[in-house]
Amino acid sequence: MLRSPGHAPQPIVSRHVAVIGAGAAGLVTARELSREGHSVVVFERGDQVGGTWVYTPNVESDPIGLEPTRTTVHSSLYDSLRTNIPREAMGFRDYPFVPKDDPDRDPRRFPGHREVLMYLQDFTREFRIDELVRFETEVVRVRLVEEEKWKIKSKQRSGKEMGLELDEIFDAVVVCNGHFTEPRVAYIPGINEWPGKQMHSHNYRDPEPFRDKVVVLIGNSVSAFDISWEVAGVAKEIHIAARTVIDGTFGKQPAYDNMWRHPMIKDVCEDGSVNFLDGSIVIADIILHCTGYKYHFPFLETNGIVTVDDNRVGPLYKHIFPPALAPQLSFVGLPWKAIPFPMFELQSKWIGGVLSNRFTLPSQQERMGDVEAFYSSLETFGTPKRYTHCLGDNLVEYNNWLASQCGCPAFEDWRMQMFLVTIKSKLAHLESYREEWEAQHLVLQAYENFIKHTSEQVS
Ligand code: FAD
Repeated sequence: MLRSPGHAPQPIVSRHVAVIGAGAAGLVTARELSREGHSVVVFERGDQVGGTWVYTPNVESDPIGLEPTRTTVHSSLYDSLRTNIPREAMGFRDYPFVPKDDPDRDPRRFPGHREVLMYLQDFTREFRIDELVRFETEVVRVRLVEEEKWKIKSKQRSGKEMGLELDEIFDAVVVCNGHFTEPRVAYIPGINEWPGKQMHSHNYRDPEPFRDKVVVLIGNSVSAFDISWEVAGVAKEIHIAARTVIDGTFGKQPAYDNMWRHPMIKDVCEDGSVNFLDGSIVIADIILHCTGYKYHFPFLETNGIVTVDDNRVGPLYKHIFPPALAPQLSFVGLPWKAIPFPMFELQSKWIGGVLSNRFTLPSQQERMGDVEAFYSSLETFGTPKRYTHCLGDNLVEYNNWLASQCGCPAFEDWRMQMFLVTIKSKLAHLESYREEWEAQHLVLQAYENFIKHTSEQVS
């Protein structure tokens, strides 16, 4: 809430804040906190900004991502990946993601991943965020050391000082470490005896390893769709197993001569067979898990105040502040089924204003009450715990709530409509939805909004 006359005015303060990660969330957080007058250090273990959008052909040493000592890779992007949200809707609210008049750039409405990285690099240059980032510096420990102070231990990952650890004290920490790196895999009875290979989509880069193979792909997400039709181009057979499938779509897929859809896997056996719940059986070479990711904060020590339980990070007030540690500890970017970049922007604006005392949080008791009410509403609707941070139908409400706390204009209707049109078109034309865009009126509204916004900033 904006500070109201009823609250005793707190002096506006500038704090020394650590931001962990220089992906889209960390970059916009650094900008918002700096704008608010805080002094910011961004810790980034990679050698450049962009996080997820820094594509690498490298994969981890354990293709399924379960071995704790495996060599890890941050990004889960595959080579052919294009955005699944139209660029106008995807970009930050005050730094539109519009095509550049440059032959080296990708002007498409759903551009390839390299264009997103270049957009984030533009954003970094425009707001001089790289001056705040310590590259190749991994945060290995974050803990509360005294009343309202946090100690961060970081480790150099390269150069003359490689391995050097440094302890520093900060007033606040904003965690922006991303949540598409630590694979989640489906439990499959009999898997230890099954002779085939397994891979998680985190380590999928291109379809070549699947050439002439019989593949079972588990999952129903956007990545699962993209990967399944790419793999179908080279595999002998691809069998897709999913928990939820629209009725009538099981069996052989009409547009393909080598793709089948099944319900979930019942179990697998030593002879290489994969048995599905509907009784169908295939002898497969490889199981590809497109089953999502886990929230993972290996550096965070909160004496059990914040935990990850069945993919619920909690307790968190509005998916951001642990009630008992607010506002000194916060998280940007946890909600999914969202439009990430503009949401990161609103979340970090709110954090910045709360840290400076320009915005007031309710009391700790009220924050905890809000979290408990939220959890019990999930229970009432039978929503599994692992869906705690799924915004889905609450996307507009959540963003508008944040916007109202920050005194910002409401979430743009054209943005939401573009998102919804995309979902509809995706369901109807999975392979071609990125090539067709009929809702031209929404694009016009977006550009009107961008022009209005830009002229307001200039005047
Ligand atoms: P990340 O981009 O993951 O950045 C986190 C950063 O933190 C990384 O740079 C990492 O190196 C750093 N880091 C982690 N731990 C530490 C540590 N201990 N110390 C220091 N640094 C650390 N979103 C869209 O809007 N449109 C799309 O089309 C889209 N497609 C996607 C496709 C795939 C396959 C995936 C996986 C995600 C997609 N997303 C998409 C979501 C995407 O992840 C978000 O848009 C966004 O990039 C996430 O930003 P982030 O900053 O939260 O995390």
